[in-house]
Amino acid sequence: MLFETHTINSGRPGPALLIIAGVHGDEYEGVEAVRRLMTVAEEDLACGSVTLVPVANLSAFEAANRTGEDGLDLARTFPGAPDGSITQRVAHALFLLIKQSDAFIDLHSGGKLFRLSPLVGYMLVDDHSVLDLQRRMAQAFGLPIVWGTTAALDGRSLSAARDAGVPAIYAEYLGGGACSADGVAAYVDGCLRVMALLGITGPPTTPDNSQPTLDRHVVEDPRAGSGHLQVRNPSPIAGTIEYDVALDDWLSAGDIIARVRPSDGGDAVAVRADTSGRVICLAAGSHVEAGVSVAVVLEPYPPDS
Ligand SMILES: [Zn+2]
Repeated sequence: MLFETHTINSGRPGPALLIIAGVHGDEYEGVEAVRRLMTVAEEDLACGSVTLVPVANLSAFEAANRTGEDGLDLARTFPGAPDGSITQRVAHALFLLIKQSDAFIDLHSGGKLFRLSPLVGYMLVDDHSVLDLQRRMAQAFGLPIVWGTTAALDGRSLSAARDAGVPAIYAEYLGGGACSADGVAAYVDGCLRVMALLGITGPPTTPDNSQPTLDRHVVEDPRAGSGHLQVRNPSPIAGTIEYDVALDDWLSAGDIIARVRPSDGGDAVAVRADTSGRVICLAAGSHVEAGVSVAVVLEPYPPDS
C-alpha cells in the first residue's frame, strides 16, 4: 500500500470530495487535520462521499523530510508513473484518485525550511465553471489570503487536477517543522465548510453564510511563475539571516527584508524586496544557503486591486 485511504460514504449520490495531506513529509497541520476529519461519521453526510489521505508521501513523512527516499519532490512529480520510483508511483496513484473526484483539497504548510502566512490558493484555469467553483471553495475555506496563480505550473497535484478538469484548492499554514494547533483547527473548519458548500453535509451553502468574517486579501495573478514560492528574493550568499520584517508586513519594492551575514564574520549582505506587497513567506531557520529564497512578497494583482 502506497498510502492510507479512508472514505466516508453517505451511500447516496453526490459530490466526491478528495482531501489529502502530507505531500511533503515535513508538513504537519494537514496530516493532523485529515486524521480528525476521519472521525466524521457516515450519518453526518447528506450525500456524496469524502475520501481522505492523511499522509500522501509516507517515505518522506517517516524521514520527516520534504522529499521521499528517491529524492523526488512529490509536488513536482505529477502525474507520476505506475512503474516508476516510489514518488512517481505515489503521484500516479494520487492522480487516479484525483481523476475520480469532483473536488479536491491539498493541505500543505511551509515545511522545515519556510513559514507561510495562512493562505488558500488555486490555479487560474481556462474552464470558467471549474475556476468559479475553485474561487467559491477558496472563499469558503476561510483563510485570510486567497491567491489565484498561473495555471502553467506543472508537476503539482493541482496540475493533475487541472488536466483532469477537477476543481482544486490548496492551503498553507505556517510551518517551520512545527504543527500549529490553530492551523489544524483552521484546516478542519475549512474542509468542513467546503463540504457544506458542495452540499455533502446538507443543503449547499454559500460562502457568505458558511464562513467566519475575515478581512480577506484576494490576489489573482496569472503571470508566469506566480505561485512558485522557491524562486523569490534569493540570498546572494550563504550565511545567518537576521530579518527586518515579519509575516504579513507590507513592504515597498527595495525595502530590506533581511541581512545575511557570512559564516566568516564578514559584512552582512542585505536582501531587498523584489516587489511591493505583503510578506507571505519567510525562511524558518537562522541559516540560509546561497540562491535560496529568504522571503516571498505577495504583490497586489491586478495592480489596481
Ligand atoms: Zn508542501
